[in-house]
Amino acid sequence: MKDVNLGALMETVISELMIPASRVAFVDNHNSLEHALLILTQSGYTSIPVLNRQSGIEGIITTTHIIRAILGVRGYETDKLGELTVDAVMSREVPRMKETQLFFRAFEMSINHPFICVEDADERFVGILTRKTVLAKLYQSVRSQG
Ligand code: AMP
Repeated sequence: MKDVNLGALMETVISELMIPASRVAFVDNHNSLEHALLILTQSGYTSIPVLNRQSGIEGIITTTHIIRAILGVRGYETDKLGELTVDAVMSREVPRMKETQLFFRAFEMSINHPFICVEDADERFVGILTRKTVLAKLYQSVRSQG
């Protein structure tokens, strides 16, 4: 997308700006914490989406969720990494938008969320919109207006 004025940006549909699902690191809600930790570590992110087998959005998992879940009174209980599933420890509160919704709503949601999960009309995950993209688009737009 090239530079657009602020008014037009606010009315851009977010599917034009999102990172597509094929380039997003995510885990399945049935995966073990061990697998989730591997994906988080390999991706370099501390927070990623959790999907179900139908590509529906179930939650968000963070390294903090995993560390807390395996922390016992006598230290880290690493056996739990293989025993617990993502579903048991993830957050179910997911900032989400439909792919046809407009930038302005994403702008508002980005105040409180580093990324927003994007879904299609059938509630299948199609990508994420990051705060970085939102800020970069705003910056480009404000700058181009001099
Ligand atoms: P950013 O605004 O680029 O710093 O991204 C904000 C957050 O979005 C990151 O901290 C991750 O939690 C998430 N994120 C960004 N890109 C990806 C990706 N390709 N796969 C999974 N999560 C991502």
